[in-house]
Amino acid sequence: MSGCDVLNVPACGSTRRSRSGAAVQGWRLASRVAFFALFVLAPALDIFRLDLVAGHFVVLGHDWRLGLDGLSSGAISPAQAVARVVLRAFVPIAAVVGLLGWASWRFGRVYCGWLCPHFSVVETINGLWRRAWRRPGFWERAALPHRRADGRALASGWWWRAATVVAVVGFAFLWAVTLLTYLLPPAEVWGNLVALTPTRNQALFIGVATAVLAGEFAFARHLFCRFGCALGVFQSFVWIANRNAMVVGFDRARARACADCFKACEHACPMRLKPRAVKRLTFACTQCARCIEACDTVQAVASGGPSLLEWVRAEAARAETTPFGGPERAADRRRRGG
Ligand code: SF4
Ligand code: SF4
Repeated sequence: MSGCDVLNVPACGSTRRSRSGAAVQGWRLASRVAFFALFVLAPALDIFRLDLVAGHFVVLGHDWRLGLDGLSSGAISPAQAVARVVLRAFVPIAAVVGLLGWASWRFGRVYCGWLCPHFSVVETINGLWRRAWRRPGFWERAALPHRRADGRALASGWWWRAATVVAVVGFAFLWAVTLLTYLLPPAEVWGNLVALTPTRNQALFIGVATAVLAGEFAFARHLFCRFGCALGVFQSFVWIANRNAMVVGFDRARARACADCFKACEHACPMRLKPRAVKRLTFACTQCARCIEACDTVQAVASGGPSLLEWVRAEAARAETTPFGGPERAADRRRRGG
């Protein structure tokens, strides 16, 4: 089974292939909802958590200890201790980092765009914020066109502002409680909450974490994804290093088709990037394909033609790394018939 099959990314595996924007977004929604549920439920289902009370990790229902207790009493030798650290700590960490690195090398920040529970919050609040204040976020003063890619007006009204505030605080609270269940027995945390009897420290943790996360979700959600998240920046660096990696490509031979467009692709981007730019300027791209879907819609309405943006790999991807021409761009133009 190829990497493309594993990731179920319909457009990858060839240098250029048509895809259905709606279908891609449907798959992406399903994967994000499933991973968000896993993020919230993993501690309660004993899939993964650190039990600070018991002093060990719990992984897939089993206690996960380094097993070094016998070292001081001489029950295990130093060589056995080193082997246990390697097998029980370094190997699992290396496997996770290796898998993430491989996916980033080939496909970019697919973890961010297709799974990450923080990015799901970013996208949800972006959509609400745009309807509420006609802007993509607090720090961007310019209003966006208040319409969808197909030209239909976006709904708006005071209730969207209320919904945005509820979503910001609600997500922050859910995240705070979830993070606490990664550290303390989930049954105790949820049980105390339901009975409205959290301990002083539990209430303090949940209160402070909710306030901090609400501030981040409201005012710095893109900034965190672009510059603050080590996982995201790691994926970006790995992706940038591979000139053949999957990237959103722009059909420059048909660039005139953009003349009548209201930059639907830029307005659709949750990371506030310019999807038509060369690769290094889309360093934080999460492969969410919202720009592709937006252009697909614009072109379908305007001319019935295909999107100017699509996922590309190999030679066409190399052309996206070349800002002022170069052999890859010339080859790309020839292939597109430009
Ligand atoms: S450039 Fe396109 S694929 Fe990348 S984050 Fe923005 S909308 Fe998503
Ligand atoms: S690439 Fe597509 S969506 Fe973006 S400005 Fe051009 S026509 Fe519009």
